[in-house]
Amino acid sequence: MKFVDEFREPEVITRTSAEIRRLADPSRHYRIMEVCGGHTHAIYRFGLKDLLPSNIELIHGPGCPVCVLPMGRIDDGLAIAQNPEVIFTAFGDMMRVPGTLGSPLEHKARGMDVRIVYSPADALKLAEKNPDRHVMFFAIGFETTAPSTALTLLRAKAQGVHNFSVFCNHVTIIPAIRAILDSPDMRIDAFIGPGHVSTVIGCRPYEWIAKNENKPVAVSGFEPLDILQSIVMVLRQLKADEARIENQYKRVVPWEGNRAALRAMAEVFELRPYFEWRGLGFISQSALRLRGSYAEWDAERRFEIPGVRVTDPKAAQCGEVLKGVLKPHQCKLFGNECTPEHPIGALMVSSEGSCAAYFNYEHRKTAMVTSISSGA
Ligand code: SF4
Repeated sequence: MKFVDEFREPEVITRTSAEIRRLADPSRHYRIMEVCGGHTHAIYRFGLKDLLPSNIELIHGPGCPVCVLPMGRIDDGLAIAQNPEVIFTAFGDMMRVPGTLGSPLEHKARGMDVRIVYSPADALKLAEKNPDRHVMFFAIGFETTAPSTALTLLRAKAQGVHNFSVFCNHVTIIPAIRAILDSPDMRIDAFIGPGHVSTVIGCRPYEWIAKNENKPVAVSGFEPLDILQSIVMVLRQLKADEARIENQYKRVVPWEGNRAALRAMAEVFELRPYFEWRGLGFISQSALRLRGSYAEWDAERRFEIPGVRVTDPKAAQCGEVLKGVLKPHQCKLFGNECTPEHPIGALMVSSEGSCAAYFNYEHRKTAMVTSISSGA
């Protein structure tokens, strides 16, 4: 398959892994953050950690939008849907994310009208088919999904669909990276830059990371060879004492981004002064809200929301895992109280969450090896 098979070619992967070992200085410990949850998933799925020398540590970043959403926002969205007139719609990966009184799916089981949609445009169609109801779309995601929400809002306005609104939780990646670099307990040597987000924003917004923070960045694709090549790129820079932005994912990411998508976002959204991120706290100018000219389609303006700040369950260590301070299996609840079947934190729900990825690939693999070697 074009653009898949050649990025999983065992011989090339072995050569690239050898190149990484050649470049890594054995007297040094490298901490490389993969910003995107899609990379975290691929790293565990393909066992890439096993191809790296032990002095290269991959730190899982905050690029899983479901994982960084604080519980209070889920409660707020579900509070709107208590209104019997409202149909709550969201992507499938939101459905099992726990709020204080349960996930959207659990609310559905109790009688709330909750429906999975594959796109905001589907939610808009649902509103057109149900003129006597109000359809609210629970929007979530980085700049990757924000353009489709923006285009749907442009269409809702142009077509005069008034029984539709968006509960906007779109966040932006650059302020989160800045918060991580400002965090005193983090030490990162280089970044594997997010591939999906960069298809929209391009590579230019990362330039300050190289210029001001002296950290190399390689914007990366999601196949095994993509990620290994990106590690080679940042190691070469570190070896040469350089810091630049490199685009490993040129086949998809244009350096200047997608101008049409950026235009649609600028038309509909503006930056919030601040927004709370799970694990990272309040970050200024890190999220989007609808502009005043779209107030009619803004669920936060149309409906009363509790707006209460909710802390995670005490024993859950999602914040530390999100910041890369702890590995998933170091959380006290991992694999016991918190599993993909019974998630306590959002990192165990989304396939891009580091806890779910670790559980599904590393934990199950270890459990299988243990059971085989004990003859169980
Ligand atoms: S194991 Fe569960 S509670 Fe612990 S960090 Fe992961 S998602 Fe959060």
